[in-house]
Amino acid sequence: MKSANENIPYKIFLSEDEMPTQYYNVRADMEKKPAPLLNPGTLKPITAEELEPIFCKELVKQELDTIHRHIDIPEEIREFYKMYRPSPLVRAYCLEEKLQTPAKIYYKFEGNNTSGSHKLNSAIAQAYYAKEQGLKGVTTETGAGQWGTALSMACAYFGLDCKVFMVKVSYEQKPFRREVMRTYGANVTPSPSETTEVGKKILAEHPGTTGSLGCAISEAVEEAVKSDGYRYVLGSVLSQVLLHQSIIGLETQSALRKYNIEPDIIIGCMGGGSNFGGLISPFMGENLRGEKNYEFIGVEPASCPSLTRGQYVYDFCDTGKVCPLAKMYTLGSGFIPSADHAGGLRYHGMSSIISELYDQGRIKPISYKQTEVFQAAEDFARCEGILPAPESSHAIRAAIDEALKCKETGEEKNIVFGLTGTGYFDMYAYQAFNDGKMTDYIPTDEEINEALKGVPQFPGNEIK
Ligand SMILES: *Cc1c(COP(=O)(O)O)cnc(C)c1O
Repeated sequence: MKSANENIPYKIFLSEDEMPTQYYNVRADMEKKPAPLLNPGTLKPITAEELEPIFCKELVKQELDTIHRHIDIPEEIREFYKMYRPSPLVRAYCLEEKLQTPAKIYYKFEGNNTSGSHKLNSAIAQAYYAKEQGLKGVTTETGAGQWGTALSMACAYFGLDCKVFMVKVSYEQKPFRREVMRTYGANVTPSPSETTEVGKKILAEHPGTTGSLGCAISEAVEEAVKSDGYRYVLGSVLSQVLLHQSIIGLETQSALRKYNIEPDIIIGCMGGGSNFGGLISPFMGENLRGEKNYEFIGVEPASCPSLTRGQYVYDFCDTGKVCPLAKMYTLGSGFIPSADHAGGLRYHGMSSIISELYDQGRIKPISYKQTEVFQAAEDFARCEGILPAPESSHAIRAAIDEALKCKETGEEKNIVFGLTGTGYFDMYAYQAFNDGKMTDYIPTDEEINEALKGVPQFPGNEIK
């Protein structure tokens, strides 16, 4: 084995004392900041007062903070993190061997907690700030179920009530996810539902719909606004979520420094952009300050290609059009992605931070079809042991392809990728792949153009 003549262990662990005590806010190092959220009524930048009926006060502050580079992680959050962090940075020796590549591959594994993904990093922070504010509970949406599960765990820990609107198709297809959430005490409603005005409206317009993330968001927001002592929390897309997820990148940076490893390429999968943003943020900061020149690759599904085929305009974050407008690469809030198995990547837009960084040419986005992704997942599982989430497997695919390029050129690049979670609740997807029944769907330009017609029309916001 290669490991015999290298002194880098399979797993680079940090001690609890080496865990970050502050989050890193990449916006502070961006000369051109991401565009502000707009009030959809006035088209003016939204104020803290306007956001506070929807979101927790401290989270609003974080959302609007483009100045402070470091933000303290409260001790209560760090105590919780210690139950499953620092997460290991693993050297993929077996995968390197299998690929016969001179590249060195590392992955930051975020699947070591019951919710099975990185989403717990932000869920616990958001639950903490809600508790701090003296709230009774929070509402949210969940698609594939990872976010709802993470938030249920976090709310149970702080004794908060948790109402989850779960996209109906997942509610029916992933009963075990649902039951995990209920075990942690959450109240789970299939969306669209009759419990909200927006749910009733969507059901009247589209009877028999199996729901979408954008629609579940609308219901969760409505529920929070009309219930006393509740606020809405979101598991991705928002800048506050990328801030919390920066713990992934900060730990990765410390682990690499411990062994004097200089990464060349850093890769992550992109749904709303939170794990990718969190992983790359501290490294991007070095690039932004002119200290380094890392390459960043963001991977999305070909079925929901917001960065690779979307437009950079202000759009609604949700189907019900109740959230503030965000400037982002979007496919249109009415875009309904095909039933790709990587449920966590099926969002029509992209974090405004990631969108702006891409617009500045600092990120390279690529997309893969799901059969290519599952092939990589299988290759990875068979040598590295971990059964990866379909979402995470997008990053695996890209890491493998970069390592194969190194095989051709003989370059010994250091490739780091984010392994965001495990795939135990995705066995129907693996079954389809194993049975050779998985198909690929790529939206046509006409479909995307049609959905983009739903983008709000105002001067300066034209579709190109
Ligand atoms: C939700 C999820 C993602 C995608 O969400 P981002 O906000 O883009 O990070 C990726 N991997 C897993 C395992 C997820 O649960």
